Amino acid sequence: MLATAQTHIREAARRLGHDEKTIEAILEAEAEHIFEIEVAGKSYPAYRVQHNSKLGPYKGGIRFHPGVNIDEVRALATLMSFKTAAVGLPLGGGKGGVAVDPRELSPAEVEELARRYAQHLAPHIGSDKDIPAPDVNTNAEIIDWMVDEFEKTVGKADKGSFTGKSMTNGGSEGRAAATGRGGVITLVEYLKSQGLIDKPLTVAMQGFGNVGYYFAQVLKAYPNLKLIAVNNSKGAWVNPEGIDVEKAEVTTGGTPRPEELTDLVGIEPLPRDDIIGVKADILVLAALEDSVVESNVDQVKASIIVELANGPTSSAAEETLDTKGIVVLPDILANAGGVIVSCLEWQQNLAGEHWTEEEVNAKLNDLLEKATKETIARSLEKKISLRQAAFELALERLL
Ligand code: GLU
Repeated sequence: MLATAQTHIREAARRLGHDEKTIEAILEAEAEHIFEIEVAGKSYPAYRVQHNSKLGPYKGGIRFHPGVNIDEVRALATLMSFKTAAVGLPLGGGKGGVAVDPRELSPAEVEELARRYAQHLAPHIGSDKDIPAPDVNTNAEIIDWMVDEFEKTVGKADKGSFTGKSMTNGGSEGRAAATGRGGVITLVEYLKSQGLIDKPLTVAMQGFGNVGYYFAQVLKAYPNLKLIAVNNSKGAWVNPEGIDVEKAEVTTGGTPRPEELTDLVGIEPLPRDDIIGVKADILVLAALEDSVVESNVDQVKASIIVELANGPTSSAAEETLDTKGIVVLPDILANAGGVIVSCLEWQQNLAGEHWTEEEVNAKLNDLLEKATKETIARSLEKKISLRQAAFELALERLL
């Protein structure tokens, strides 16, 4: 993923005529924090990479996942700098993570891990320095613990130091659904530009966590865009009649799992990775990085890919997609809804305000619609892909 992200940046910078020295400088992170956290006698590698603060404080999530490593965090931090710039936010880019499988920890141990993480990084965090948020396997509860520990450590209140907080702790309306909602906004804008918005189109989606669930929920406003397949770590389910994600028997709390959706009960799941090859017009990638790679790119049957995860398509796979005329709505645009509402949460905290969900969604809509239109225009004007256009626009702002 790091190689892919750097390839996109190098290519964009060369097209814009920048020299190699400038290019190498923009790839370099401004600071990297690498440490260990001890919980219940075990030690876990922890990271925060602060990539670029040219446009504002570092911004980006913290993930708890066994696959976390320094190169992954570097890649994700880099993508954050380009994402905030691509959509015109007054923020920089950073990312954090702990190499841990949170399912192997008790709730008290997860809290301990979150608190030790915030305590260690406290000198480097703050509403004017670096503003972390949730990412894979982290949520409002975990962020609330981090804010509490951070405020205790620095000895002052600073609610704008983290985003993705719970509503009672200074969180924003609309934040939980924001990444999924943003994916729909970008897709709809793209379909409008192609004259496809009223056409009946089918959608298959990889990953059914928070992001995927809310994408599917918001997509219901467009009945001609029919969700027909979803997957998770256990399997892939297809129902050509359509899948209504609000019809579910939720037994586990939180958002439903595919097995709990009424429209999928009794349907035998396919192997998990078969989702990539499902026959649908639109493939939404809402799981993890490197999901469409050289070895499976030929299975893709969709003509449009929406990247809700960060870095789900490798640069090698993208060459094949380009050759076949398969359009990719790139992560730094399609999944920017989360960080856009994070920015709105931060602004509410700094102003001591709490906006309604309608206000937040309207602002999200305006910002992302504008960024998508700009990206489409640049891509048409220069005959480059949407990803190349988004990276160019971001780079122009960063340099
Ligand atoms: N983790 C999300 C992302 O990758 C959100 C980051 C944020 O809100 O700061 O964009």
